[in-house]
Amino acid sequence: MKINNIAVIGAGTMGNGIAHVLSLINKNTFLIDVDEQRIDKALSVISKNMDRQITKGLISDDDKRNALNNIKKIVQVENIPDDMDLIIEAANEDKNIKRNIFDLVNKIVSDDTILATNTSSISITELSRGLNQEKFIGMHFMNPVPVMKLVEIIRGYSTSDETFEKIKNLVIELDKTPVEVHDYPGFISNRIIMPMINEAIFSLYEGVASAEDIDTVMKLGMNHPMGPLTLADFIGLDVCLSIMNVLYEGFNDSKYRACPLLKKMVAAGKLGRKSGEGFFKY
Ligand code: NAD
Repeated sequence: MKINNIAVIGAGTMGNGIAHVLSLINKNTFLIDVDEQRIDKALSVISKNMDRQITKGLISDDDKRNALNNIKKIVQVENIPDDMDLIIEAANEDKNIKRNIFDLVNKIVSDDTILATNTSSISITELSRGLNQEKFIGMHFMNPVPVMKLVEIIRGYSTSDETFEKIKNLVIELDKTPVEVHDYPGFISNRIIMPMINEAIFSLYEGVASAEDIDTVMKLGMNHPMGPLTLADFIGLDVCLSIMNVLYEGFNDSKYRACPLLKKMVAAGKLGRKSGEGFFKY
């Protein structure tokens, strides 16, 4: 059976991107947030991002009109209809918020509904405790969702093959590339990128090179599209620190200790692009 009715919980950066791509492949998309203004804001972001795709010739005006018609607004998780094939949770990266959402969702949905989370760092297995664990899975989209081709599909301890296959097929339908990952801290993406960013910060902290030169080495020497310090500013230094802490605690291994400079900058409120200053000024 194909997945058609999909609820996306959280209409922030990731939720609006996920609703955007689902609506374009004609899924009945239900976008949920705590109040109507946040959903309206997300819809206007989706509309603007679709305009950009039209300008680039990637989609037509008709595609956009159809897609926007496919998205229904729902205020509050309690009001999600009970016939969802899939629920994708993309609320804030906070274990309690996510657990509360899944407890509410669990009261509404049928046994057949697949529950997915877009968490970047929380254990899928832990989030699924007390729920139908065979039907619980991680779908880790990358930002910005309409542009990035990768989705890490994370199998919790008890995720069934059937659930995995259904989600894999949906990712392929979205014209994205799925990779299968098991549930360990940082999955693959953050387990590799965050220690690299952290090492770049250590190099700056120890005075090995300037921020500009560290980024230049990785851009021109390794062909990375963006240097690690620019990337850290883009992701948000608070997010980088919290993911390093997840790796550190999850593996109990000192190789994942966050650089003291990263901690100090977060304490100072220098969070990167979103605060106007990080390793660079914006
Ligand atoms: P965000 O802060 O932009 O959006 C979160 C949204 O969730 C907000 O609009 C908030 O109002 C809503 N929300 C909170 N509680 C809710 C509830 N009970 N019911 C309905 N909506 C609720 O966050 P984001 O950057 O979109 O991140 C969402 C998730 O995606 C996080 O788990 C994050 O780790 C993950 N993620 C983020 C990125 C990224 O680059 N931003 C990339 C991959 C994964």
